[in-house]
Amino acid sequence: MSFKISCQGATSIKTFVDFLWNKLTPAVSNTIRKKMAPQIAGDMRATYPAFSGNRSNLEKHILSSLAQEENFNNYWQYLHNPQSFFKNYIENQIKSYCSDKGSEKMKTFLKMSLDAIKNDILSAIHEATEIAKDKRSTASGWLDLFCDKLRNMEFLKEAMCKALDPEMNRVEQNCLYMPVDEMVPEIQKMLSEHLSGCWKQCPCCRAICTNTIPTHDGDHSVPFHRPQAVSGISWYKTNNFVLDYCTSLVASDCFLVLDNDRHIPYKNYRQAGGDYAKWSITPDTSAQPYWKWFVCHFRSKLEEKYQKRFIGKGKIPDEWEKNHKTECA
Ligand SMILES: [Zn+2]
Ligand SMILES: [Zn+2]
Repeated sequence: MSFKISCQGATSIKTFVDFLWNKLTPAVSNTIRKKMAPQIAGDMRATYPAFSGNRSNLEKHILSSLAQEENFNNYWQYLHNPQSFFKNYIENQIKSYCSDKGSEKMKTFLKMSLDAIKNDILSAIHEATEIAKDKRSTASGWLDLFCDKLRNMEFLKEAMCKALDPEMNRVEQNCLYMPVDEMVPEIQKMLSEHLSGCWKQCPCCRAICTNTIPTHDGDHSVPFHRPQAVSGISWYKTNNFVLDYCTSLVASDCFLVLDNDRHIPYKNYRQAGGDYAKWSITPDTSAQPYWKWFVCHFRSKLEEKYQKRFIGKGKIPDEWEKNHKTECA
C-alpha cells in the first residue's frame, strides 16, 4: 500500500480526516439517540404528575382527562381494553411532550450530549497526538506509516479539530430532525416500567386491580368499585341496568346469577369460582361520585351499546344528577 503523501500532504490529511469523520459521525448520532430516550423519560417522570407516581396515580389522571374529553369511545376503550388504552395514553403524552413544551428541553438535552461528546473527541485527538508524537507509533501499521511520513502531527490535530464544529453541527441538525416517532415506543417502555401493575378487572364492574405487582400473590382488589351498569350488568331476566356498586351488593341479600343460571348469594360471591374466587370485595357503602356522573352523562350511550335500559330497578336516582363533573374529576 503506498500513499503518495510527501507530495500530497494536505490532500491526504483531508482524506484521512474525512474518513475518520465518516466513521465518527454515525457513532455520535447513535450515542445521542440512545441518550435521548432515557433523558426524555426521566424528565417526563419528573415534570408530569401523571407519571410521577404509581399506576393508580396514573389512572386518576386518566379518569380526569377522560372526563374532560367527554368522549364515550375513549371510555369504552378504557373499560374494555385498559392495557392498550394506558399504552396509547402514555404514547400520546410522549408525542405531545416532544412536539411542544418538551421540544426546547430536547434541544437542551441534545446540546448537553453533543458538548460532552465533543469534549471526549477533542481530548482523544489531543491524547492521540501526544502519544503518537512520543512513540512515533500508532495502533495499526498503515496509520503508523501514514503518521511517520506525515511528521507534522500538529497539522492533523488542527484538521481534526477544525472539522469538529461543522461535523457536530451536522450531527445536531440530524438529531434535531430525527423522527420522534422512532423514539416513542422506547420511551413508552421506560415509563411503563415504573407504572406496572396487575391488569385484572373486577368481574362485576371492570375496575382494574390496583396491586403494583403484575402477577401478585393473594386476592385482586381495588379501593373503589363502580355501579355495575358501567360494565353492562342488568337485573335477572330484565334489561334494567344494575346501578348498585359491587361493595353494596356483597352486603345485600341479592343473588349473583351465572350464565348457567346458577344462583349464588352475593355475600358468598367467591363460590362462583373463576375470577370471582380471586377477588376481595369488601362490604362498603362509599360510592365515588365520578361514576354516578359518568352513568348520568352517558346514559343513552350506555343504553345503546349494551342494549339495556335505565328503567325500573335501573332508574337513575335524582340525587345522582346532582354530581357535577368538576367535583368528580
Ligand atoms: Zn367491582
Ligand atoms: Zn390483581
